[in-house]
Amino acid sequence: MIPSDPQQVKQICFDRINIPHVNQLAIAQKNGAYAFLPTVLQEFESAKIIDEMKISGLRGRGGAGFPTGLKWSFVPRNTGKPTYLLCNADEGEPGTFKDRDIMRFDPHLLIEGMVMAGFALNVRDAYIYVRGEFLHEANVMNEAIREAYAANLLGENILGSGYSMHLTVHRGAGAYICGEETALIESLEGKPGRPRFKPPFPAVEGFYRSPTVVNNVETLASVPAILKHGGAWHAAIGVPNNTGCKIFSVSGHVNNPGNYEVPMGTSLKTLIEEYCGGLQHGTVPKVIIPGGSSTPWLMAEHYDVPLTYDAMAKAGSMLGSGAIIIMDETADVVAFSRRLAHFYAHESCGQCTPCREGTGWIERMMGRIEDGQGSEKDLPVLEQAAKHMAGRTICALADGATAPILSLLQHFPEEVRSRITENRL
Ligand code: SF4
Repeated sequence: MIPSDPQQVKQICFDRINIPHVNQLAIAQKNGAYAFLPTVLQEFESAKIIDEMKISGLRGRGGAGFPTGLKWSFVPRNTGKPTYLLCNADEGEPGTFKDRDIMRFDPHLLIEGMVMAGFALNVRDAYIYVRGEFLHEANVMNEAIREAYAANLLGENILGSGYSMHLTVHRGAGAYICGEETALIESLEGKPGRPRFKPPFPAVEGFYRSPTVVNNVETLASVPAILKHGGAWHAAIGVPNNTGCKIFSVSGHVNNPGNYEVPMGTSLKTLIEEYCGGLQHGTVPKVIIPGGSSTPWLMAEHYDVPLTYDAMAKAGSMLGSGAIIIMDETADVVAFSRRLAHFYAHESCGQCTPCREGTGWIERMMGRIEDGQGSEKDLPVLEQAAKHMAGRTICALADGATAPILSLLQHFPEEVRSRITENRL
């Protein structure tokens, strides 16, 4: 059980993750699932829940880090339209694999969080948008939802409270861009998943042009503990402005890659050395990608950076979704960047010329360089192409596509040059 003393808290969303078969309702309930839900439904009011969420300081765990309570407070009331709650379970950012573990191992935590969020936002219909490849996770969620309906934890008049909410799992088709909230909404409406111009923001005009809150799995799974223990309890975990715990998906050249939930503010070095068994080669990393493949690279001097949104921004990158990719001295950063360039060119939805054309140019230039066909002249063109894409498009995919290329050119120009030179001999 999660300790009520915030100083003792080490995990929130993964608190039950190692309990065998906790995906089953009876075992989840034996370990605290839904225990506080009747209190929320009968004694809490919407405004109180939103206030607690604001006090908690919880920032969205999907990547942007926007304060959750504030997001909920933007939803207009009495519009005459329904309000929708959408759980973003697309998790397509390369390096990220945490939300699928919540769905796979503790699906009732997510359902409970969604019922509480739905109650606060007066939602009648909620959806979980699951990445198409997550078939097993979608099946586990559907079975948990079936159990929750049978126990009147979902559906009409939940636990006799008068509140009704229906929850549906929708599988996408595996497009990276459908993790962007407006593309997710388009896809859920049955259209091609292409981002919309903002404003209007989804809180005002989202799913079927109605007020819509889109929250990530980890964000919604944090709600039950926050409402049970109070916003102030959550705010006392971690560090100011970066509160609570966060799950980090660690991959790359570490001895024990995997998902680790730690209090915000834990240092990266502690996470790698105490939780992940250290680096495979050497004592300091060659490259640190702190928040998924679309975030700028950090170098060895930032190995001890605190895992917070603010510290990452100060170091010149982003915490993003918490997908940490570590590369040691054995990494071929040119080949890695080319692979990412291919990914982003493949995943561009094609609406914006700078992204549609630019990702293709970058992919072709990186391919030439890695295959030994590159020239010195490619380097300024590559840099200019990347700089002309960022900030000129509808969504952030173009910025994300340029981050690894600009990082490569900034930190490893000699490796790129030597690849060109070596291959010419
Ligand atoms: Fe589509 Fe790229 Fe434009 Fe985003 S930036 S809307 S992915 S073309």
